[in-house]
Amino acid sequence: MKRDSHLVVLLLFVIGCSLASLTVWKVLASRDRALEEVDVHGLNLTQALSTYSEGIVRQSSLLLLGLVERLEIEGSGPAQIQRLSALIIRQESLMPQLSGITIYDNQGRWLMSSNRPIPAGANSSDRAYFIHHRDDPSRETFIGPPIQSRSNQEWVITLSRRFNDARGEFAGVVAVTLGVENFLRLFGKIDVGQEGAIGLSYTDGTLLVRYPFREQDMGRNFSQSPIYAKYLVDRSVGTASFTSSLDGVERLYAFRKSDRLPLITTVALGKREALAAWRTEALLSAVVVTGLLGLTGLIGWFLIVDIRRRTRAEDQLRGTQQQLLSTNRQLELLAMKDALTGLANRRCFDQSLAMEARRARRDGTTLALLMIDIDHFKLFNDSLGHVAGDACLQTVGRILDECVRRPSDLVARYGGEEMAVIMPDTDSDGAAIVAQLIIDRLQQANIPHTASPLGRVSVSIGIATATLSELDHLQGLIEVADQALYTAKARGRNQYVRGGL
Ligand code: GH3
Ligand code: MG
Ligand code: MG
Repeated sequence: MKRDSHLVVLLLFVIGCSLASLTVWKVLASRDRALEEVDVHGLNLTQALSTYSEGIVRQSSLLLLGLVERLEIEGSGPAQIQRLSALIIRQESLMPQLSGITIYDNQGRWLMSSNRPIPAGANSSDRAYFIHHRDDPSRETFIGPPIQSRSNQEWVITLSRRFNDARGEFAGVVAVTLGVENFLRLFGKIDVGQEGAIGLSYTDGTLLVRYPFREQDMGRNFSQSPIYAKYLVDRSVGTASFTSSLDGVERLYAFRKSDRLPLITTVALGKREALAAWRTEALLSAVVVTGLLGLTGLIGWFLIVDIRRRTRAEDQLRGTQQQLLSTNRQLELLAMKDALTGLANRRCFDQSLAMEARRARRDGTTLALLMIDIDHFKLFNDSLGHVAGDACLQTVGRILDECVRRPSDLVARYGGEEMAVIMPDTDSDGAAIVAQLIIDRLQQANIPHTASPLGRVSVSIGIATATLSELDHLQGLIEVADQALYTAKARGRNQYVRGGL
């Protein structure tokens, strides 16, 4: 039973552990999956956005190339500029992302602006793209840092090319401006949550566009951020996860460097936000599993309580059974004992005599029987009273018990003041020795009996022994002993007489 309740505890423990570890494993796996999905999603987005940005830049680049060629072939005199301007205005609707096209001469003076009248004395020789083209003979398109328009405060990105004069000297710059607003409109359509962000930067870390728009980030250099400093060093596409040093929010980043252009597209999602659905699911799993564990525990507890209750009941039953058995044994002993002397009673004597006779017959041994009667006991009672008579019976009983030492011998109270000794495997001589010992011991004990001629208590003993053939008739054996006892009395008492069959 104790083992049963231990087994239940073990079973509950195993169930609990398996359920808990399975749940933890499942929840962690689903977290990994959720993060993986965010990464894939982010990478796909960077691909789409990068393609979009590349398209715009390439289109602008082509446009610039056409303009540069024309300026270099036709020159940049007022008439040519006039014609060019008309052409540009006609074509502008084909590229809605364009904010405008501006042409500068080699001093930075404005020769033409597609979207507004030229401000008086306007000069852009201090702009980064102008300085770049003036000092660098490269004919490639230059993507400048975002700048704020001096006229309408709008944030724009400039793409520009240099054009030369007939001698190959620097003649001026053609620049297209792309409104950051256009990029933001597209980026804004993509759901990146409250903590997400989409960025387009130059390879040196200069931020061109960021959604959501933050004025203070425009044109800022992020080359120290982990994406540039660590991840983009050895790969052009990838994902990363780190805490922003700007706002302390942990984000999952997907980044992609354009194959052909010096542009980097970044999509970032707040990790906490990205894992919100997973968190809810995990919480739900935890609640369900905790409930299940609780239920299992409760059932187990009931089971253990039941087992313990049954164990207790069984223990009680066993105890009662034990008690009953020992009471039975006591009763049995009592049924075999004489209450006054503590010797075997008549019932025990009869059973033992029958049993010893059977054994003697089986073993072929002699069985001896002594019949002992206290002399003048009636007188003892008469002179000293029944209480003293009882005490005398007890003393004589004890003396008999002391004289009979063999474990197989039995001393019994045959009835009244008559006692008997059964001695298995004992012949007539052996029995006589014991009888004499009893007589001698009583003499030594010297129990006063004033009414007796000896002045003390004495006994007369009749001895009967039976060999194999005589054992069938036990009553005969008792009668012989009685007869011998009677003879002993007749011969003057305080002696033994051997009886003969
Ligand atoms: P004897 O045997 O020597 O011929 O004389 P006796 O006086 O012993 O004769 P008898 O056997 O006739 O007497 C037996 C007496 O033993 C009768 C009774 O008073 C007494 N007696 C028998 N059983 C008990 C007992 O349990 N207690 C007491 N106190 N006396 C008993
Ligand atoms: Mg008698
Ligand atoms: Mg007597």
